[in-house]
Amino acid sequence: MTRSLDDRLDEPVEQPHLVIDPAVWRQLIAWAKVTDSEVSGMGLLEPDGQDDLRLTRVYLLPQLGNAIATQLDPGAMADLMGLLLDEDLDPGALRVWWHSHGREAPFWSGQDEHTIDTFAPPAMVSLVIDHRQRRLARLDRYAPMRLTTWLTVDGADPIEDLTEAEVDAARAQVREAVGVLAVEDRLRPGMSDHT
Ligand SMILES: [Zn+2]
Repeated sequence: MTRSLDDRLDEPVEQPHLVIDPAVWRQLIAWAKVTDSEVSGMGLLEPDGQDDLRLTRVYLLPQLGNAIATQLDPGAMADLMGLLLDEDLDPGALRVWWHSHGREAPFWSGQDEHTIDTFAPPAMVSLVIDHRQRRLARLDRYAPMRLTTWLTVDGADPIEDLTEAEVDAARAQVREAVGVLAVEDRLRPGMSDHT
């Protein structure tokens, strides 16, 4: 008998795999590469094999971003839930937060840790990628205690052949979805602190 998605998230095996569908990986890389800003969104999970997870669909949501941060629009999650219900998709499968780093390698920043905790209490998978197609994934759960499980990513094979049409479409989607997040003055080089 195969385990449900919730069981796999709430009681993962020691080193679960996150399998990324080829079309999904292509889409993520296209969104990441067309901008120097960080971009983020959500994704749908399905059980895969005996104990693993599969990322089957990704969404780019309304958000603010800059080279070092990304913030989803607070209303975007509710809108996405409604969209899933309209399409007869299970909102309970919306268990992935993904984001890109601009020029930095994937790592979990303090801001990322904070964002991950805003999804509690359900167990959630987080994925971070960069322009060079490197990626990291983790599973965070909160009951009976807060635990992070590192995920092995499969299926994210290098993509060298994004078409002009794919790049154009991704650029238009990012332009529409991503507003500019103000960088605080203190983070700008060469500016002094004054009021
Ligand atoms: Zn990050």
